[in-house]
Amino acid sequence: MTTTPRKLFVTTALPYANGAFHIGHIMEYIQADIWVRFQRMQGNDVNFVGADDAHGAPIMIAAEKAGLSPQQFVANIAAGRKQYLDGFHIVFDNWHSTDAPENHEMAQQIYLDLKKAGLIKARTIEQFFDPEKNMFLPDRYIKGQCPKCGAQDQYGDNCEVCSAVYAPTDLVNPYSALTGATPVLKNSEHLFFALSDPRSVTFLEEWIGGNDVDGKPHLQPEVANKVKEWFSVRDNPDGTKSEGLSDWDISRDAPYFGIEIPDMPGKYFYVWLDAPVGYLASLKNLLDKRGENFDAYIADDKLEQIHFIGKDIVNFHTLFWPAMLHFSGRKTPNKVFVHGFLTVNNGEKMSKSRGTGLDPLKYLKLGMNPEWLRYYLANKLNARNEDIDFNREDFLARVNSDLIGKYVNIASRAAGFITKRFDGRVTTAWATDSDSFLSGLRAVAPEIQSFYDQREYGKALRAIMEQADIINAYVDANKPWELAKDAANDARLQEVCSRLLEAFRILTIYLKPVLPHVAQQVEAQLNIAPLQWADVTRPLPDQHQVNAYAHLMQRVDPKMLESLFEMVPTVDATVSAPTNPSSGETSVEDSNIEALAPEIKIDDFARIDLRIAKIVNCEHVEGSDKLLRLTLDVGEGRTRNVFSGIKSAYKPEDLIGKLTVMVANLAPRKMKFGMSEGMVLAASAADEKANPGIYILNPWPGAEPGMRVR
Ligand SMILES: [Zn+2]
Repeated sequence: MTTTPRKLFVTTALPYANGAFHIGHIMEYIQADIWVRFQRMQGNDVNFVGADDAHGAPIMIAAEKAGLSPQQFVANIAAGRKQYLDGFHIVFDNWHSTDAPENHEMAQQIYLDLKKAGLIKARTIEQFFDPEKNMFLPDRYIKGQCPKCGAQDQYGDNCEVCSAVYAPTDLVNPYSALTGATPVLKNSEHLFFALSDPRSVTFLEEWIGGNDVDGKPHLQPEVANKVKEWFSVRDNPDGTKSEGLSDWDISRDAPYFGIEIPDMPGKYFYVWLDAPVGYLASLKNLLDKRGENFDAYIADDKLEQIHFIGKDIVNFHTLFWPAMLHFSGRKTPNKVFVHGFLTVNNGEKMSKSRGTGLDPLKYLKLGMNPEWLRYYLANKLNARNEDIDFNREDFLARVNSDLIGKYVNIASRAAGFITKRFDGRVTTAWATDSDSFLSGLRAVAPEIQSFYDQREYGKALRAIMEQADIINAYVDANKPWELAKDAANDARLQEVCSRLLEAFRILTIYLKPVLPHVAQQVEAQLNIAPLQWADVTRPLPDQHQVNAYAHLMQRVDPKMLESLFEMVPTVDATVSAPTNPSSGETSVEDSNIEALAPEIKIDDFARIDLRIAKIVNCEHVEGSDKLLRLTLDVGEGRTRNVFSGIKSAYKPEDLIGKLTVMVANLAPRKMKFGMSEGMVLAASAADEKANPGIYILNPWPGAEPGMRVR
């Protein structure tokens, strides 16, 4: 059966170029890379592109701090990308930048086309301006006191203590996070994309609820439902009002690192206007390099434009982006595939600021096999936008029991006999064997194919492993190692092992999108051309000679996982621009601990009165960037006020209600901010550079305020 190959243009979300990749990026790229490899194995034509999202105030400010031009700053970040992509066998056809000329040109043209369509409106807005820095402040660079709960040092858009959402102008005592200056309100003319225009609303309602040319929806149902909520004008149960779609502010004032608006000198496109245009710019750059015509390529009705994204940027990809494309007379996306977040070990939210989680570069540097991670993540991935969890025990089990135990071991049990005893020749005597499990193995191909195409990788791998179980049962029933003991069984041995190699070959086809490197090794060992999906039904010919078997993959050593999750410095790339590959390599093993203090007697220790304390309240200390003010209950019928230099490590709300250990008989000390009546205990590394973390002590459950620690 021949069908016309599909023509696919596939992208992943463009990473913001102010930091190194984290595991969330890698998961998305692996998800897309598996899909792309699968499509290519079907004979489909794919262009798979990425780019760095280079613009915006955060990059401009970070570059300035690093003493670099924004271009140089972004170039340094971009130079660090390859080691991750190569390391995890993620192959983009092109990696570009939104600061490239193609993107400047296209973003400006799209804007002019939208303006011609009457969908760009100018409006004067009042915004905070930093008089020292001479610039308008983005919301994230204005801080002040939360208008709702009064917490200090809250950002201009929401409060991290009480979660209130507000406008920066609502902040009490606002200040610029850049200079500390009190911002002033100033008028500025901004441009808006008229998302509330009835034309936009009608188009988007149709697009969001609509189906693609293949009859399948543009969006996953749960995503479409969520997006539809943003359309409705209604009174919410909590008393607030949903106003429906509002116009989108697409301009920013100079100074701004971005693309200048063609007919408005000194004004720039908001980074989210030009970022998705970067998909097209990267594609154009690729096609130009190949001497292909971008306009002709994109004009083909059969072209499917597919974006893989995370659930945090759904609004940009399902509202602004399709509307921008449609009203500028361009092709709209066929599918937006949304995935959830990756959590690590018991649902702890990935957060680079907390230094938890899984550092992809460290994973590689520890010598962990990238295909373990690809296989493990594929097991967890599905077509829905739900979060998935990386769990160590589960990782060990999936890789060691399934991947190695069920798949890799089939080859190791069969290939050796073929090369040692039969000069590497396989026989097709099995082809006439009516009880062969091979027909069953081939019969599942369409099912697995459909799982991959729908991004149900977990289901695909479960179906593949069910087949591996059947093959392993055949191994156990026929025991090639027993047959090998008596030369009289040679014909049977060759037949059994040939059948197993054929089964292994088919399993390898099924696993190839996930395990491209293993597949390549298998192809070399079996002495065959790169496997395509259609090869499922094309067995090795009789007397085909295979090469000597070499072991394909090691098992995961649990010690590696321990090292992976050891608390070590996470390179905070938002401030350190150039990622020097050698700088993060200091391992815990070779860092020295602080020298021990001189020996003491038990009586010396007894003089220190340590007590369990309950943190009944905790708050920021105005004017201090190190201290938190703790209100502690040590069971004395009163509370104590203690200042502790742990602000860099904990948020007040994370500590309230927790138990810790304090030195209760320390003489009170008068500090700049008031009296401190004791000290809480916390661990920190001797070498603050190697590990800047501060870890306060927390007793096991059952301890109560006032108990003595001895
Ligand atoms: Zn608040």
